[in-house]
Amino acid sequence: MGFTIAIDGPAAAGKGTLSKAVAQHYGFGHLDTGLLYRAVGARMLDGMDPIAAAKALLAEDLAREGLRSPDVAQAASKVAIIPEVRAALVDFQRAYARRAGGAVLDGRDIGTVICPDAEAKLFVTAIPEVRARRRYDEMCAAGVQTDYETVLKDTIERDHRDSTRVDAPLIAAGDAVIIDTSQLDIDAAVAAAISAVDAAHARITP
Ligand code: C5P
Repeated sequence: MGFTIAIDGPAAAGKGTLSKAVAQHYGFGHLDTGLLYRAVGARMLDGMDPIAAAKALLAEDLAREGLRSPDVAQAASKVAIIPEVRAALVDFQRAYARRAGGAVLDGRDIGTVICPDAEAKLFVTAIPEVRARRRYDEMCAAGVQTDYETVLKDTIERDHRDSTRVDAPLIAAGDAVIIDTSQLDIDAAVAAAISAVDAAHARITP
């Protein structure tokens, strides 16, 4: 039987690191659904129509270089507003969620739209200043030239676009466990996530 863990939250809240650690802990597969939107956003920057790009998306497109860049992140949040783009990506995500052996999906609408019946749902967040600081440190470590104010502005802009769109806005599912990582290091965040998933598992296991 499949077991799906839905992990949603805003940009740079630590979802990626947390999702990988949770997937590893349970031996589940992990799908970073943001990569789907980033791949479509990158195609749009190449000049392709985003709806056509979403319909033609292949697994290998997710391995394309440069998907983590700030420009692609902004493009991703622009194509993510388009309902036809979102619709074209639903089946792939749902099929992954039900894969044998369990799955962790992280994104913005996993617990609300893609997998409303997920066995465990987490909403990982942190105040914008903390998220921007983490993203800024990551970018500096990767040798990207930027400054903290720009990263904070980009973070807030993307949050706004993700939270105010009409189709599948960023919002915690009513039954999600909220993990605020503003004051947590990664080990504490992973421990909180695992205990929430264990509790969800215990609730559904007779
Ligand atoms: O998570 P990540 O920062 O890689 O996501 C990039 C963008 O893709 C987000 O800002 C959001 O607009 C979009 N996205 C989405 N739904 C998801 C995952 C990502 O709309 N499930």
